[in-house]
Amino acid sequence: MTGPSGRTQGEDLHREVGDTGVTLEDLVQEALAAREMAYAPHSGFKVGAAVLTPGGRVYRGANVESASYPLTNCAERVAVQKAVSEGERSVLAVAVAADASYLRSKRAAQGPAAAPGAARGPGGAAGEVGSGEAELDLFVTPCGACRQVIFEFGPDAVVVLADLEGGRCVTSARRLLPGGFRLEATER
Ligand SMILES: [Zn+2]
Repeated sequence: MTGPSGRTQGEDLHREVGDTGVTLEDLVQEALAAREMAYAPHSGFKVGAAVLTPGGRVYRGANVESASYPLTNCAERVAVQKAVSEGERSVLAVAVAADASYLRSKRAAQGPAAAPGAARGPGGAAGEVGSGEAELDLFVTPCGACRQVIFEFGPDAVVVLADLEGGRCVTSARRLLPGGFRLEATER
């Protein structure tokens, strides 16, 4: 439920997604745990992801870097590809967890007008969950490639972004990738 202010209530995170028995906050916790497994010796930037499928299964992913930089794979794509390679064909929700503090310190340095959510702290005050454009800017979001891959299997998926300080931002695959490219799949 999104109010006129563009903010959602905190309890949304604790509501079951579909009939899976899994909540968005459960999925965030999986993404945070996945982040610990990241292999990021080159950037030092660890990201965790977790994908929820209609049967209630959760697949974790973490970024896996390579000394040959372009071969690096993102946490979101690792998680989706793990799910699909295990036979899943649909994604209900995706959680992404990363340290977003660098985004806030940069915006704070630009002044209060450039940091719409900063005054409330990460992701807003306790019990609030961001969902507006301003909040999105304060979280680590999936890259363009990952947005397309998430969209392939979950055009209606909920996407929840999490920082390491309890901040959450609930958005969606469609919102992250308006007009996403689709082919009519002949076999799924
Ligand atoms: Zn990515």
